[in-house]
Order: sequence, then C-alpha cells, then structure tokens
Amino acid sequence: MSRIFSGIQPSGSLHIGNYLGAVKNWAELQHKYESFFCIVDYHAITVPYEPADLRARTADMALGLLAAGLDPSKCTLFVQSMVPEHTELAWIFNTLTPLGELERQTQFKEKASREESVPAGILNYPVLQAADILLYRAELVPVGEDQLQHLELSREIARKWNARFDPPPSHEGVGAENAGHRRSFFPEPKGLLTPARRIMGLDGQAKMSKSLGNTVELLEDPKSIWEKLRPAVTNPKRVRRTDPGTPEVCNIYHLHKAFSPPTTVEHVATQCRTAGWGCIDCKKVLHESMEKELAPIRARAAEIAANPAKMRKDLANGAEHARSIASGTMSEVKKKMGLT
Ligand code: SF4
Repeated sequence: MSRIFSGIQPSGSLHIGNYLGAVKNWAELQHKYESFFCIVDYHAITVPYEPADLRARTADMALGLLAAGLDPSKCTLFVQSMVPEHTELAWIFNTLTPLGELERQTQFKEKASREESVPAGILNYPVLQAADILLYRAELVPVGEDQLQHLELSREIARKWNARFDPPPSHEGVGAENAGHRRSFFPEPKGLLTPARRIMGLDGQAKMSKSLGNTVELLEDPKSIWEKLRPAVTNPKRVRRTDPGTPEVCNIYHLHKAFSPPTTVEHVATQCRTAGWGCIDCKKVLHESMEKELAPIRARAAEIAANPAKMRKDLANGAEHARSIASGTMSEVKKKMGLT
C-alpha cells in the first residue's frame, strides 16, 4: 500500500472550502493508502500569533478533521510539534538547498514584496514541507495545483540528498543486471491532484478564506448558514425573476455540484437557464442538500467535543506512531551522513 502525507495549518475551525478542497478527499484516501495527516503548527508560527490562540486553533482543527471523517483507526492523525524529527530533518535539508531556489518560490516572493522584514522561517517554509513529506518517505502527496511548486522542491531535495548520501553502488552502472530497479532512500514524492474543487467564497469574488470573511463554517448551525446563503452573490445576469441565467458562472451552482445529487444539479441548471425558478428557490434546495451532508458532521463534532480526553489520546497515539516511523528515518539519515 503506497504511503501518503498531507498537512493542514491549525487555522481553527474548518470551513466548507477546506472541507471540499482537501479534507473530504482525505477521508476517502485513508481507505486506499497508508495515510499520514498532520496539523502543521510549526508552519503556523512563521507569522505573529498568540500561544493560547494557537493551542485553541490546533484543538479546533483536530476536532474538525475528526468530525469530517478522519478515522484514527484508519489513518495517522497528529500534530507536527509532537514529532520533533520534522525540524531535525528540515535543518539537514537546509544545508542542501540553494538560497536562490527558495527566493524563487512564488509564495515567498509575494510575502517579501508586501513586508518590510521577512522572517527566515517564511523563506525556509518549503524546506520544512519537504521534511514533513520525506520524513515518512511518502510516495504521494494530495495537493491542489497551487502547491505543485513546493512539491517540486521536495522532489529536488530528495534527489540531491540521495545523490550525495545514498548513491547507487558502483557495480550498478550501465549494463548492470539490476540497474534501474534499486529504490533510492527518499522516494521522489508525486502529487495526487485533488479533483479540482476551488471553492469560491459567498461573495463570488475570491477563494473561500477566513481572512476575507466569505466562508461558511463546516460546523455552523443551519440558521446561520441560511442567513449567509440568502444574500450570497449569484449570476449577475439574473436581475429579475424572469431573466434566464447561466449556471456555470454562478457560485451557488458550483456549491450544488459539491453538495447536491446529480439529478438535482441537472434540475438546477434547467431551472436557471429557463428562469423556471428564482435564486432564492435555488438556494433553498442547496441549503437542504448541505444540511444532509453537514448535520451528521455536526453530530460527530458534538460527540468528540464531549470527550476531549479521547481526542487528546487519539492525537497522542497518532504522534507515537508517526514518531516510530520518523525516528527510523532519522537514524538511517544520520548514519548515512556521518552524524552520531
Ligand atoms: S438560479 Fe441558482 S444557479 Fe441560477 S443564478 Fe440563481 S442561484 Fe445561480
């Protein structure tokens, strides 16, 4: 069974953009792959933060992930700072990574152009990401297209480390019987592209994001969801109830595609194109579909929240399993590098 690794920032509660864009997919992948899912709190401290707030956000994220379907008996769910080997391997990779490559990363360039003083942690962020993945020698990483550049850097770091510290024995040259069959110590991780689910915010302007205030929370109550859906942006061509619309350009239609069954999605498209119903009717149907999926998640979250000791135990068990793999990787890495 191939091994996968993916991380998520401890941003607090999950919103439906996180859920549809990543976590729902993880809940399916855990049945097909040996899965490691990590709440990456070391990545979160590259920006100013309050310690008590970070702790609370980490706990909220763990609760959201478990409620959304991650099952500790099927996957390894843990918090990054509970496995110190992540930063240990990151330091080693820092010694192999050219500064120029880090400075070329799009996310760094964006942040550096906005801020007067950028912490070195932001520059080295992709090196820690490479360590996160390679520590478990994961072959696959579920990613969105915007993360492919960082994954390419992880692949390069793996190649570089393998070439320097795990070169093939000289008898494996051209013509050797087993040439090409030897597995390098670090696999070059490949992206497992998540089915394109770039969920727009309810303003229809930008990707759903907490900082833009355009989210629907995964655990939000139905009344509050409706209060957000009712005024949400739709196809601007539908000024009057009798104006036919183009569903493909409407965010509500895309949410139907994520939450409603195919027959309903077809019905929505027809009703929209023929002005068979108004946008409020359309949103009411969406609200019902969302409720079908989100109500069981809320119920699971309530159960988990009622037993915080069990959640702490699940995370501790996840970290213990992760460490058993991570420490094995580190002892091999140190041996090959002449470290004690
Ligand atoms: S009817 Fe539905 S899909 Fe069409 S514009 Fe209105 S909300 Fe969007």
